[in-house]
This record gives sequence, structure tokens and C-alpha cells, in this order.
Amino acid sequence: MGDSPKFDFLDDLRAKYPHQPVFLQAVEEMALAIEPLFHDTVNGDFYKRAFLYMTEPERMISFHVPWTDDEGNLKVNRGWRVEFSRYVDVVFYLRQYTTVFIMDSRPLIFGELHFLYIVHWDLTKADYGLPLGGGKGGSDFDPKGKSDSEIRRFCESFMTQLCRYIDASTDVPAGDIGVGGREIGFMYGQYKRLANKHGTGVLTGKSFLFGGIHLRPEATGYGAVYMAQHAIEDKLKESLEGKRCAVSGSGNVAQYASQMLMTLGAKVVSVSDSNGVLVFEDGMSLDDWNAVIDAKQVKRARLSSLGNNISGKYIAGQSPWTLPDLKFDFAFPCATQNEIDKDGASLLLEKGVMGVFEGANLPTSAEGQQVLRSNPRVLYIPGKAANAGGVGTSGLEMSQNASRTQWKKEKVDAMLKEMMADIYKQMVDAAGKEGTLEEGCNRAGFLKVAHALKELGWVY
Ligand code: NAP
Repeated sequence: MGDSPKFDFLDDLRAKYPHQPVFLQAVEEMALAIEPLFHDTVNGDFYKRAFLYMTEPERMISFHVPWTDDEGNLKVNRGWRVEFSRYVDVVFYLRQYTTVFIMDSRPLIFGELHFLYIVHWDLTKADYGLPLGGGKGGSDFDPKGKSDSEIRRFCESFMTQLCRYIDASTDVPAGDIGVGGREIGFMYGQYKRLANKHGTGVLTGKSFLFGGIHLRPEATGYGAVYMAQHAIEDKLKESLEGKRCAVSGSGNVAQYASQMLMTLGAKVVSVSDSNGVLVFEDGMSLDDWNAVIDAKQVKRARLSSLGNNISGKYIAGQSPWTLPDLKFDFAFPCATQNEIDKDGASLLLEKGVMGVFEGANLPTSAEGQQVLRSNPRVLYIPGKAANAGGVGTSGLEMSQNASRTQWKKEKVDAMLKEMMADIYKQMVDAAGKEGTLEEGCNRAGFLKVAHALKELGWVY
């Protein structure tokens, strides 16, 4: 949140959710981004009402998740679902990651949450008419250091609880931090056992062997790079070819953002995890990328363990945003929330970085965003647009499942590219002549949802 709260009409919300700082951060950022709409002489009050309506979740569910570790001990974790926007239907993300819960006994997952996804989802619908709303869910289970069997037992127990709340036309989970193809597979396996429903697409991010869509694992990272490509060509009249790009994270989004950047001829100068950063001064090679994939997808190892198997230099305790000597043209934060703070953003500007494209959700803190906004020549595309390729492809997976078909990779890639191009166009159109891409992104999403709320008769 900023130093002095700006919007009086949000005071009740601030009072209700003091324990949800990241949620309030998302709300404040959005309010700032669309502030001129609140001053509209005709519709300003309606926009405030619509905004407030969107900030209260429609439903929050909390449940226990008992499971047995490899030594036979009973463990009990907590699971949550938060459904926000159900203007049409809901797709939501699941994450398992302890650190998101440390601040409070309530679901902080709700904090990071999906207020922002209302906008994100709605932008994603674009011309596809994808029936998506916004939500979030997860647990306080930390998968680090757990065996495959422990992960499977946890996922099965989690789904045993969750399955009573989800349905292909109600709420469709996808992966997020700590929830990848392995976890989705275990959860879907349990869902099939319990529900005796098959091929309904109640989870997305499934394996291609049982109803998944091509390119879902790649879609968020690829989509962020496609979006960056549009912005760089349109606004800078440049291409990604030969450009130095810093990527943070080495999980799902970072892996495929890096791959697509290399495919388009860019030099990937970093990837990271929560312990440190790997720096590739001359750009990551394909062999390096394969070593990272093997470490993260197969061995589930730390980047620090790669040693001499890789050309990069490992620096413990740092991120790409804290290294003064690492030079790059574009930043792709793809790890986690608030990873670029005020100092990190200032460093980016000092280095002359030309664009920040958020593969992660809320990776730039509120103060960091203010710094980026201070130089409008820096292209800044928030995650709600830049990482929309993942949710968009989840929507395509639902459509594919509903039609009981499986689409070819080329078809999905073409749809993903078209989707990102369309979202970019919506941002540019909504930004108008004077506005930034960030402003356009927030305005476009908000207005669509606000108008839908009005036509549904839910906000008046
Ligand atoms: P993931 O596969 O679990 O990878 C997360 C990566 O971020 C890992 O490398 C992790 O390192 C790193 N990380 C986590 N916490 C960190 C911290 N505090 N400091 C530094 N690094 C940290 O998750 P993902 O699916 O790639 O998601 C990454 C981001 O993209 C999240 O913000 C997510 O919400 C967003 N997103 C994902 C999708 C999707 O389709 N997957 C779609 C839209 C948005 P460790 O291994 O050390 O934890």
C-alpha cells in the first residue's frame, strides 16, 4: 500500500483486510491505475460501486488436508479456495507454497489473489469468448524436500476435499507456484476415482495423455514473450534478436519464457530460484537450458547444485534485480510477488532497461511500480496482461475438453499468439494517445467487467 491511502471509498475494505497486505496492494494498484474513471462526471460513482463489488470474494472455502508422511506420521495441512469473479465461470489457480502463509492464519493466498485476475481473465477472454472468471486456491503444504509418494498422498487428500466444490461449469483449477504437471496429474487421478466423471476438464494443465492441451505448460512463458515482442516492435521499432534479457525464477513460467526468448534470438542472461541466481554473461545455451530443465523438472534440485554442468555462474542470495553489474535490455520477472522492490526498480532504470514484462503475478512492489512509472519510456506490462497466455490456454483446454477433441500443437500456438496480439491491441486502444500500456491494461479489463456487472443487473 502507498504511504497515505488515497481512495476514501476503499476505507472499509482496508479495515476488513489489514491482514491481507498483498491483496490490498493489488486493489490499491488497480485503483490508482484507473483513477480517472472514478472522476468521470457521469459514471464515476458507478465505477466506484463496481470496483467495490469486485473486491469482495463471492465465496471462500477452507478445509483440512490430512496425509501421511513416509515415516507413517499423520500430518494435517490446510487448503483454501477463494472464488472472486463468476460473471461467467471460474478458472482458478492452485499453489502449494508455505511462504505465502506465514503472515497470518488466514489464507494469505487470498492476498495475492485474484482480485487482479478479474481483470486478467477478462482481458484474456478477448475475441475468444472464453467463459472465465477469477479465483485462487492452494494450501500451506511446502513441497520442497517431499518424496514423490508424499506429494501424491497430499494431492490425493487435497482433491478428496476439493472435489465437492469444483465442476467443469463451476470452478476449474489450474497449476501455479508449486503445482505443476505432476501435482495436477495426481489430483486429476483422484478426482476421476471419486467423481466417476471423465474428460470433463475439471482441472487444466493436465497431461496430454488424459485430456490436456498442447502447450499449456509453455503457454504462460511463451505468451509473456509474444506480448513483449508486440510491444518492442510496436513502441521501440526493435526486435528481441540479440537483446539481453534477464529472467527470474526457474519454474514453469521462467523455463518457457527463457526457451522462447532463445528461440527468438535473444540472450537469456539469468534465471534464479529462491536461493540464488545463475548468471550467463554470454547468454544461456541450449545445453544450459536442458540442464536447468533436468534439475527442475526431473531431479527437483536447486540451481546451486548445477556446478560445472552449466556455463552460468551461480551467485547465492541474489536475484537478477539486485546485481548492479549485470547488464540487460529487458526484464522478465517470472518468479514470485514483490521480487522487484523500489531499489530493484531503480537499478533497472539506472541500467537503461527498456522494458519490464511480468511473467509472474505482482512481481513488482507498489513502490517499485512507482519507480517504473517515473520513466514512461520504459515499457511496463503488468502480469495481468503479460502472463495471460496461461489462463487463456487453460480456457482453450476447457473448450477442447468440452468438444471431446484434442487439438494440434500448431493450432494451439496460433491461438495463443492471436490471443496475446489481441490483448496487446486492447491495451493500446484503452491507453489512448497519452496513456501507458500499464494504464491501458488496467482500464480495458476493468471496463469490461464493470459493463458486464451492469448488464447482469448486479451493480446499478
Ligand atoms: P513454479 O513453477 O513453482 O516456479 C516458481 C519459481 O519462483 C521457482 O523458481 C521458485 O524458486 C521461484 N521463487 C518462488 N518464491 C521465490 C522467492 N521468494 N524469491 C525468489 N524466487 C522465488 O511457479 P510458476 O508456475 O512458474 O509461477 C511463477 C509465477 O508466475 C507466480 O507468480 C505465478 O502466480 C505466476 N503465474 C503462473 C502461471 C502458470 O501458468 N504457471 C500463470 C500465470 C501466472 P524455488 O524453487 O526456490 O521456490
